Amino acid sequence: KWILVSSVLLICIVTMCFYYTAKTLLSQQKLALLKNQFVSNMTHEIHTPLASIKITAEALQKYDLDKNSTSEYLEIIQNQTDKLIDLTNQLLNKARNEHFELQDFENLALDHLIRNVINHQAVEDKVKINYNESNFRIKGNNVHLTNVFNNIVDNALKYNRSEIKQVDIDAIKRNHIIEISISDNGIGISAENLKYIFDPFYRVTANETHDVKGYGLGLDYAKTVIEKHGGTIEVRSEVNKGSTFIINLPYEG
Ligand code: ADP
Repeated sequence: KWILVSSVLLICIVTMCFYYTAKTLLSQQKLALLKNQFVSNMTHEIHTPLASIKITAEALQKYDLDKNSTSEYLEIIQNQTDKLIDLTNQLLNKARNEHFELQDFENLALDHLIRNVINHQAVEDKVKINYNESNFRIKGNNVHLTNVFNNIVDNALKYNRSEIKQVDIDAIKRNHIIEISISDNGIGISAENLKYIFDPFYRVTANETHDVKGYGLGLDYAKTVIEKHGGTIEVRSEVNKGSTFIINLPYEG
């Protein structure tokens, strides 16, 4: 009897060890694959604007262009430079995020923070962003929280093919928690992809649903920042209907 029990136990332990080793190896393999994809995306993302800046600057130098063409060419240089700055900022945010400390927290007015994000984003006519003022205060790092809300609102507009791109932001208080929801009428995310979108470097395959370029770092960053604030972030989504990101943060008064 004891031999049978010991054998069953041994089989269980070996199976568990095998399962966890396989799981770790698989996730390491997946991470290595994602990193490779990331490096090749990044190389492409850096190379394309740099090549465009180089060609445009050479043309400006070589030809005697009229005023209109000159300003057109200068605009190309400016747009491509903005793209590179945006990419550098995303990478810097990720690096900085690994080091920011709780001492950097301050008492913040949520309305002010969200208004800043909306003013930064809502420049196009076909973009409608609603926000109901709340008067809530939260304790946090202004720069990082602003970046998080910017990333989420930016995604809500990027992954959106509706005629009028609509984003609704709401904040409510539940006991000692402020729940902030950001809903969009965009392309949505399938249940399969939903599981991974907070993973570093993860992107829904471009051809599958959209042709938006990105690095798959925005939501990984958002999750890390929110968790460092003692909060949580989750998402609900329906393909072709839209997505809602819900952020819970501790209430400060
Ligand atoms: P990036 O936008 O640079 O790819 P993110 O980490 O911000 O990186 O997002 C990860 C992926 O999640 C995106 O590639 C996109 O496929 C999906 N996603 C994020 N937000 C939305 C949204 N509001 N609607 C649809 N898909 C989204």
